[in-house]
Amino acid sequence: MTASPPRPQQIPARVTSIIAGSALPADLPGHDIPVVNPTTEEVISTLREADAAEVDAAVRAARKAFDEGPWPRMDINTRKDILYSVRDHLRRHAEELAWLECTNAGLPLASVLWHVQRMARNFEFFAEVASTARGETYNQTAGFLTIVTREPKGVAAVISPWNAPLALSSMRVATCIPFGNTCVLKPSEFTPLSVRRMVEVMHEAGLPPGVVNLVNGRGSVTGDALVSHPGIDMVGFTGGTATGRAIAATAGRNLKPVALELGGKSANIIFGSADIERALDGALAGIYGNNGQQCLAGSRILVQRSIADRFIERFVERSRRIRLGDPLDPSSEIGPLCFRGHMERVLSYVDIARADGATLLTGGRRAQTPERGWFVEPTAVLAPHNDARVCREEIFGPFATLLTFDTVDEAIRIANDSTFGLVSYVWSDDLPTVMRCARDIRAGTVWVNTPLMRDLRAPFGGFKDSGIGRDGPQTSMDFFTEIKSTIIPVDAVQMHRYGA
Ligand code: NAP
Repeated sequence: MTASPPRPQQIPARVTSIIAGSALPADLPGHDIPVVNPTTEEVISTLREADAAEVDAAVRAARKAFDEGPWPRMDINTRKDILYSVRDHLRRHAEELAWLECTNAGLPLASVLWHVQRMARNFEFFAEVASTARGETYNQTAGFLTIVTREPKGVAAVISPWNAPLALSSMRVATCIPFGNTCVLKPSEFTPLSVRRMVEVMHEAGLPPGVVNLVNGRGSVTGDALVSHPGIDMVGFTGGTATGRAIAATAGRNLKPVALELGGKSANIIFGSADIERALDGALAGIYGNNGQQCLAGSRILVQRSIADRFIERFVERSRRIRLGDPLDPSSEIGPLCFRGHMERVLSYVDIARADGATLLTGGRRAQTPERGWFVEPTAVLAPHNDARVCREEIFGPFATLLTFDTVDEAIRIANDSTFGLVSYVWSDDLPTVMRCARDIRAGTVWVNTPLMRDLRAPFGGFKDSGIGRDGPQTSMDFFTEIKSTIIPVDAVQMHRYGA
């Protein structure tokens, strides 16, 4: 796909659930929620919220597809063929999906084009992983053969956020269904359009009915009904830490395992020994990419005091030059924030920062241009210390917090002084400095002299309040399969004969 703006696409007037492969009729009565374009602030569709009864129907469909359907029992090559067909169909619809995502989530086209490619790749990658699932055999115990096999685990509740709807929903679904599981997916009610189309396209590609079911609605209604449903076997959740805690508590009461990908407040450490030009590019990409709405944002930028004045000056200069605009315009670097309430929350951190003694370096206001839309000026503050709330809380917008430090020890101490531990960034050309940081920083990923590079072969997830579990070939296989031991005598084994 080129970087020219995608063509306008059709938006459904009313977004309904997809259960057992069929969309529910658009004229059903129910609670409606407006779907808004954050660039124009216009209502572009309505979402019909799935209540508990509808969630029950979706879980029953997933249950039936798992307990009786072909999917878990299918020859792996046939299942792989379908997942490859899903990949190909998603690629064929890339322009349509990208347009829907930019229009509904406000994400800049460049981010979305990358997400769309990743979405398709996720299905291919985990289809291959599932086809390499293998067991074990043991024959050391005389007279017996023990066979250990993996089986699909069952029906998953899959819940995803609004900040990258296609990439994150597809990641959750693609780590789940290739192993033979079925699922019910609930995306965020703010951004239903692209994900609903993704699920439709998956069915057009040949996915059997009931393998992926879609319900839409608020977390407190639809999400809660799904997570607490007794018919599910596990929960895969990507979203905020507070929601993750609530979901884990609900799932725990029903003894259902959870995989949680949660929030972050990641340190981006820039040493005097770094290639400063690259570090500056990396720091800007780390905080302003995806409109600043990314769990893996480098939102605490720690700069060594020896280079701090010049680095911060240049960071501010570049922040002021960032192009805000229509996310569908390929030249826009930052689009609007996803919804009004979120914009207001991000802006509220300007006063919070000041109250804690931080200095506003640039931005801090709703943008004047474009005139419409929930645009926030790229914002940077210099914090007096790591206890300031802007250093401790995830702001999730184009809002950088800068801090200074003197020594490697101090940088590592500040980086680790956080309830989160999702990712971290280190910029230095000094090998011992890099190695110390890589060893001692408590985070699931350490990026050295590069931002945001993700390898699907490597597990991804967080330490501490950033999550439980990892997305990755082995870790996803472990979460989404059950292990069974079958023990068979190969000789006529002597048994005690009770009562003989
Ligand atoms: P959120 O408020 O936690 O919501 C995530 C999803 O959970 C939404 O679909 C939401 O529905 C649903 N939900 C809310 N309450 C629920 C409940 N009681 N039961 C079941 N579902 C419920 O997060 P968000 O604001 O959408 O997303 C931003 C957060 O996600 C940030 O903290 C970010 O760091 C994190 N994130 C983490 C990763 C990662 O890989 N670690 C990736 C991306 C984002 P509603 O939309 O109706 O609330």
